[in-house]
Amino acid sequence: MKLGLVLACAAALLAGGCSDTANGAPEGKVGVVATTGMVADLARVVGGEHVHVTALMGPGVDPHLFKASAGDLDRLRAADIVLYSGLHLEGKMTDMLRRLARKQAVVRVTDALPRQRLLALADMPGHHDPHVWFDVALWAEAIPAVQRALAKADPSHADDYKRNADAYTTKLLALHDEVRTTVATIPRLRRVLITSHDAFRYFGRAYDLEVRGLQGISTVVEAGVKDVQDLAELIGKRGIKAVFVETSVSPRAIRAVQEAVKSKGHNVAIGGEMFSDAMGSKPPEDTYVGMVRHNVATLVKALK
Ligand SMILES: [Zn+2]
Repeated sequence: MKLGLVLACAAALLAGGCSDTANGAPEGKVGVVATTGMVADLARVVGGEHVHVTALMGPGVDPHLFKASAGDLDRLRAADIVLYSGLHLEGKMTDMLRRLARKQAVVRVTDALPRQRLLALADMPGHHDPHVWFDVALWAEAIPAVQRALAKADPSHADDYKRNADAYTTKLLALHDEVRTTVATIPRLRRVLITSHDAFRYFGRAYDLEVRGLQGISTVVEAGVKDVQDLAELIGKRGIKAVFVETSVSPRAIRAVQEAVKSKGHNVAIGGEMFSDAMGSKPPEDTYVGMVRHNVATLVKALK
C-alpha cells in the first residue's frame, strides 16, 4: 500500500468509513486488485516483486455472473490500482467499476487493444466479444496498459515494469506460435471445439478452428431445449468425437447435449475440462500461460 493511501485510510478509519479489509499490500508494494485471474496474471508478471496482486474471482468463478460483495468493494477501494478486463465481461460490476473510476486509478485492460481486431456481436450492435485472452497475440497487446498503470503509480520502478512487459510480450508471442503449430496437428475436419458457452471465438479465429458454444457469449441466458437438439444434430451429422466442459460453467448443459447425441444413435465423449473464463487452482494452470497450454493439450488429445 502506498503511503498516501495509508494516510487516507487512517483518516477514513477515524471517520468510520474505511474497513480493515484493505488490499493487504505490504508497505512499499503497489496494491493491485484485479477482477479475473487472467488480468491478475498480467499484473503479477509485469509488476514482479514490486506489486501485491489480488484477484477477486478465483478458480471456477464465472465473471458474467459475479457480483462483488461488500468485502470485495472494500478491497477495490483500498487498491492503488484496480484492473479489469472490460467489454462487459464483468457484466454485473460495470456500473460499480465506472463509479470507482471517478475516484481512483481504474484501468480497463482491453482499452489497449486495436478495435479492428475485436469480434463484433451480431445481436448487440456496438458491442464486442469480451473473451479476447484466447488469441494469445491479441492478449499480449493488453500488456502495455498494465505497464503504464504501474509506472504511473510507482515511477521509481518504471524501468523494471518496462523490462518485464517486454519479456512477457516476447513470451506470449512465442506461445502464440506454439499454439498455432500444435492446433494445426489436428486434422482440419476434426478441428471443432464445442463448449458450454461461446468463449472461444477468438481462439477459433487465431488458430483456425471451428467453435460452437451451447450458450451465447454470456452465461446469463441459459441454453434451451432447441439449442441442445441443434447442437446434437450437428455433432451426429459431422461425426464429432468430443465436446468439452468448462471449469467456470456448470457441466449440466453439455451433458444434456451428450445425452441428446446418444438418443440420436451416436456417441460423443466429454473431451475434458477447458479453462475458459477462469484459470486453474494449481500450478501451472493457475497462470495464463499454463491455462492456455492445458487447453491446447486437452483439445489435441481429444480430437486428434
Ligand atoms: Zn464467458
